[in-house]
Amino acid sequence: MESAYIIDTHCHLYDEAFMEDRSLVIDRAKAAGVKRIYLPNIDGSSIDGMLELETDFPDFCYAMMGLHPCYVKEDFKQELKVMHKWLSIRNFSAIGEIGLDFFRDETFRAEQLEAFQLQLEWALEKDLPVVIHSRKSLQECIKMIKTIGKGGIRGIFHCFSGSVEEANAIIDLGMYLGIGGVVTYKNAGLPEVLHSIGLQNVVLETDAPYLAPVPFRGKRNEPAYTQLIATEIADSLQCSIEDIIQITCKNALQVFEPI
Ligand SMILES: [Zn+2]
Ligand SMILES: [Zn+2]
Repeated sequence: MESAYIIDTHCHLYDEAFMEDRSLVIDRAKAAGVKRIYLPNIDGSSIDGMLELETDFPDFCYAMMGLHPCYVKEDFKQELKVMHKWLSIRNFSAIGEIGLDFFRDETFRAEQLEAFQLQLEWALEKDLPVVIHSRKSLQECIKMIKTIGKGGIRGIFHCFSGSVEEANAIIDLGMYLGIGGVVTYKNAGLPEVLHSIGLQNVVLETDAPYLAPVPFRGKRNEPAYTQLIATEIADSLQCSIEDIIQITCKNALQVFEPI
């Protein structure tokens, strides 16, 4: 078996924030030990750039397909049609990112729920993992995964930043927590949560270009910073960075490529 490596399970590398220096960003990621980057889709407009990256960097960039909850608008059924077509013509690593976001805006609450339900059904039909974006909506997400999935949904709650109880509710679903730059933010309380839950259900992510870890907080995030995230987790759990890489690599492969 190939030895363990860093997997960035959630990175918007196709974002225009990387327009100028994308290949340098990838070089730095590789130099930092990153061997896989999973690309969550946003909406119809992000598909081309995402698939281009996958073509240019095979066995390194892996595309998902899905409609992000913040981009569920009046035309969501049209958007979903595009996504469903893509899913019917080729394979994707996951359905993502999908979910519910009631933090910024609840205008399309009903539409978000409908889009989420439909995409969970796709995941079941195609036996694909899901990558969940949940803000101010954890209970609703969990309820829907239980109702629609009946135990058959697997995947990741990305950008986890909740409490021990919330973490355990996700673990009870048999799902994983994506831990990123937030773990380095003071007062975020994530190290304490990790202490309680351990690493069994943890995967690494950046969510780049967003949520850069300290000392780059507020600046552009990039996949090489998974090193900083892994180091922070290792420090707070008093184990080695090698342990963190090994366990999170195994977990991520378990999600995306179960044997
Ligand atoms: Zn997200
Ligand atoms: Zn994202």
